[in-house]
Amino acid sequence: MRSKLMVGNWKMNGSLAANASLLSDILAGMAGVTCRAAVCSPFVYLPQLQVLLAGSSVASGAQDVSMHESGAFTGEVSASMLRDFGVRFAIVGHSERRQYHGETDAQVAAKAQRALAAGITPIVCVGESLVEREAGQTEAVVKRQLAAVIHANGHCISEIVVAYEPVWAIGTGRTATPEMAQQVHAVLRSQLQAATAHADRVSILYGGSMNAANAAELLAQPDVDGGLIGGAALKGPDFLCMLQAAS
Ligand code: 13P
Repeated sequence: MRSKLMVGNWKMNGSLAANASLLSDILAGMAGVTCRAAVCSPFVYLPQLQVLLAGSSVASGAQDVSMHESGAFTGEVSASMLRDFGVRFAIVGHSERRQYHGETDAQVAAKAQRALAAGITPIVCVGESLVEREAGQTEAVVKRQLAAVIHANGHCISEIVVAYEPVWAIGTGRTATPEMAQQVHAVLRSQLQAATAHADRVSILYGGSMNAANAAELLAQPDVDGGLIGGAALKGPDFLCMLQAAS
């Protein structure tokens, strides 16, 4: 059975001092936490995470990775560089990158491929906008987004993590109901089943206004294998409460 995976996505937040304080709160409260846990910081803080999380059960993750192996790509960070700093996860295709940086399905798939090749687990984000949901396109959109990653990653596909993040639920306080989340997660699971005999191993996380109050009921759904948490992961007690709910 899949153990739950809870991932904090700090987005562009933090400072050396704030990170140290948040991580010390989290590490002090890990007694009784049995789920898997990770935090994804901005690139520049990954060395700090490597030091502060050493020997703990909390893994570090990046929020993006280059689709290129190395070379003249100013400003980009490669998967092997992340590996140098002990990074275990890399978020790819977050809706904020698709929306503000024009990332395409093919680029997201290539990023997932680079991460896997470097031994880093890509957390592949998919999700529909409000307009797409209201037009009844939710299933088609998430399947198209995941299909690109399946196509590019073939036999490695059971090594990825998927995060369903409805764009209208991100940072809005408007969470998908547990039933809505389960419905989409089941669609993604069956798409993975058609691609690999090991689809049951793939963790499918929910993200979008998950917090200490709603985590337990979302996590109770059979195909909700954890969370990708933004705002509420910046508060130690809230994040710990969600780790407990997943344990
Ligand atoms: P919020 O939890 O702040 O809605 O953000 C979700 C998210 O985008 C995580 O990647």
